[in-house]
Amino acid sequence: MTGKTATYEFKAETQKLLDIVINSLYTERDVFIRELISNAADALEKLRHESITKTDIFDGHLPLEIAIELDDKKNTLTITDTGIGMTGEELEHNLGTIAHSGSNTFLAQMAEAAKKDISLIGQFGVGFYAAFMAGNVVRVQSRSWDKSEGHEWLSDGTGSFTITEMPGLRRGTKIIVELKDDAKDYVQKWKIESIIKQYSTFVSFPIKLAGEVVNTVQALWTRNKSDIKEEEYGEFYKFIGSAASEPMYRLHFSADAPLAINALLFVPAENFEMFGFGKTDPGVNLYCQRILIDQHSKTILPEWLRFLKGVVDSEDLPLNISRQALQDNALVSKLRKVITKRFLKHLEEEAKNDNEKYLRFWTTFGIYLKEGATSDYEFQKELGKLLRFESSKSEAGKPVGLADYVLRMGPDQKEIYYINGPSRVAVEAGPYVEMFTKKDVEIIYTMEPIDDFVLSHLGEFDGKKLVSADRADLSLTKDEEETKADERVGESERLDKDALAKLTEWMKKILETSVSDVVVSKRLVDAPAMIVNPDGFMTSSMERVLAASRKDHGIPGMGESKKKMEINPSNPLIKKLAALHDRDEDFAAEVARQIHDNAMIQAGLVVDPLAMVERNYRILGRVVEG
Ligand code: ADP
Ligand code: MG
Repeated sequence: MTGKTATYEFKAETQKLLDIVINSLYTERDVFIRELISNAADALEKLRHESITKTDIFDGHLPLEIAIELDDKKNTLTITDTGIGMTGEELEHNLGTIAHSGSNTFLAQMAEAAKKDISLIGQFGVGFYAAFMAGNVVRVQSRSWDKSEGHEWLSDGTGSFTITEMPGLRRGTKIIVELKDDAKDYVQKWKIESIIKQYSTFVSFPIKLAGEVVNTVQALWTRNKSDIKEEEYGEFYKFIGSAASEPMYRLHFSADAPLAINALLFVPAENFEMFGFGKTDPGVNLYCQRILIDQHSKTILPEWLRFLKGVVDSEDLPLNISRQALQDNALVSKLRKVITKRFLKHLEEEAKNDNEKYLRFWTTFGIYLKEGATSDYEFQKELGKLLRFESSKSEAGKPVGLADYVLRMGPDQKEIYYINGPSRVAVEAGPYVEMFTKKDVEIIYTMEPIDDFVLSHLGEFDGKKLVSADRADLSLTKDEEETKADERVGESERLDKDALAKLTEWMKKILETSVSDVVVSKRLVDAPAMIVNPDGFMTSSMERVLAASRKDHGIPGMGESKKKMEINPSNPLIKKLAALHDRDEDFAAEVARQIHDNAMIQAGLVVDPLAMVERNYRILGRVVEG
């Protein structure tokens, strides 16, 4: 070796990762082969992409391939690729730091995951550093395609690495792993071959093992559907998704017009964001005529489909398009639209064919569809059909679609109703569903904070307006007959008009700072009071979410709209409150405030807990006095 040597320290988080890799990951050791091969394949893809537009590529004649050599005398495993290579600076940067953003949280999550289930680690792709799972010394000799001279990177994974100039190298990268004593079986050809078969069959460059090509280079997605075996799909999914289990759904489709598309998309079995791993990177790669244009493409599908894994290949895309230009390329947005619609249609078909399975999908990935419905106007119609919610006519835990709801609607019903609550039991005990139960009108229970945003963004479904049941102007009220019948019941059952007017007037004064109005309810059946929303757009649930996020961001709670309160003239508490008002106005005011706070709580809205508890004790104090 000639030339200068420089020594560098690993970045702190890189060293931490190395410690995890070296000390706790040996059970999943085989993946180091996968990681090194996948880096080699990436480097080859990059070179192939560059050579479309550039002519002055160093060693341009070299075939694009990966070669693995095993040496049982020196106990080394060597992986060579003829890819893009690395300059000295690139070696220092790429192999001294972790590319992953927010590396520290990433590391903490990974260490946590490794404790629970070691096979999860494959999902993280510890990358190049996996070489230290099997090697006590790792050498990386690399020469960039840009003609600069080559270098050797060398480290034993503890603390530091060196970079030495090394003239005379070919283009690409050679990684020499000096195997640890207990990892010597990696010099056995059968072992490496079986690992390649397991993880890397679909690498789109020849992999030569001791001079022999061991993979079949093919683009599965361009083959005829009827010629592809189930196992091949399964293996391909595991390969591109770094997954251990079978996918939940698969869609393989081809089109010639209006665009030439070959797409192979998979829905995984698990949702990694649900495990608290942070936002996942998109998992679909964009190809043009089998050449990788954009790995983990952010543009080929909407962001809310980031949970999908797979490949999109279109011959219509210009081969030399840059990643930057993809973002505002009209053809790409057209592709995105066609593929997204096709995928959503596929989900609709799956739901029809096997509802149980679709509900499993919904529990795992429904949140992404909701994200789509609130953020993406373009696919609202399709997404509306895929949403699932519990309702007064669904079994607990068995959500139904809006289309089912529409089928059950009576001939006079014009709107679709929903109400938010923390749980089915809470919603059913609350005041909002009383009139619906009485009239046998189905009402959807939205039990996630995001649900009301989803439905209000959707606005309508199948031509029917989506209406929150806490709206002040809800049309579902007692009809005239019923109201008259109520009034005929007489004073002993119900407050008369004058008494009611007096009571509401007085309550409005008492609650002046918290409500915009107090009115006689036409829809309460049993409960004494309820809070309704005058503006008709925001539901109480949406307001609660916004208030919480304002608080998170330290923004004072301004701008909350004042609510209307409805009171029930047939409720004993309201009737007796009118009488109490005449006897002891101060105490009646305490009760009125408490009724208001209770109604606020039933609406899921915030009250001042301290003031409420103190008032509550004062009222209880009076009760025990007798
Ligand atoms: P990732 O592949 O997820 O980016 P890795 O840890 O596997 O992370 O690799 C880090 C970086 O090192 C890569 O992004 C790439 O820039 C560089 N690299 C690794 N192996 C090679 C190789 N064989 N040829 C060229 N560059 C490589
Ligand atoms: Mg990698």
